[in-house]
Amino acid sequence: MRAGGYWILATDFHVHGFPGDGALVPWLLRDEAARAGLDAFVLTNHNRVSTGRMARRLAADTPGPIVIVGQEITARGFHIAAAGLEERVDWRHGAAAAIRAVHAQGGVAIAAHPSRDYRMGWDDAALALVDGYERAHPSMRAPENAADFAAFGARAAALHPHVAAIGSSDFHNGLSPGACRTWVLARERSAAGILEAVRAGMTVAVGIDGDLYGNAEALRIVRLAHPPIPESRRATAWSRASVAAVAIGLLLLAVL
Ligand SMILES: [Zn+2]
Ligand SMILES: [Zn+2]
Repeated sequence: MRAGGYWILATDFHVHGFPGDGALVPWLLRDEAARAGLDAFVLTNHNRVSTGRMARRLAADTPGPIVIVGQEITARGFHIAAAGLEERVDWRHGAAAAIRAVHAQGGVAIAAHPSRDYRMGWDDAALALVDGYERAHPSMRAPENAADFAAFGARAAALHPHVAAIGSSDFHNGLSPGACRTWVLARERSAAGILEAVRAGMTVAVGIDGDLYGNAEALRIVRLAHPPIPESRRATAWSRASVAAVAIGLLLLAVL
């Protein structure tokens, strides 16, 4: 979909895959992403890029969502969904150093689920450097988390006015990729175009109930275009029941 001279690309910047910490192998993940109506997703396993690189290689030259290599830089006090990497980023030297390492590779850094449990590591140096933050994430169903994400965004915007509002599913299993997503206003329909739009803050985060967050200009363009949000992004009673059944099964396995 195009509007205002931009491509509007449905992107999920925070998806986990197998091997690693997600349930789905790369080709099934891409099928699920296509089913959810995504144009692109970033594979962000915890502190590794190998599965993302494999996913990108397998996706090359076949139709379907754009696959971007990333890493969830995972440390005590912060998680960062980094997009546009080739090599693993060291997570041991603080958030600002990690973001500089992401930028050195040409990538963008997004503060992941910045609720109070994950923001101790965010000092002003890191906030001034970060390219985006998760304004929408499935954990926003808890009102205190939604309030924390908004407060984090206000703090970051004071230091970095173009910080991008991002919506991500943090998919491991259950729900679906794109459960929360981002409308990216990109000048070109490519991984590079998506990263450039994040740097420019031209994004709109889509919340778990379809609510929109972003800067006034990006919101205006998206509202004009009114892109559709597939129903599959919503958790159905069956998907909740199946997640609950897995949890109960694991519990029984542990107890018995
Ligand atoms: Zn995380
Ligand atoms: Zn994650």
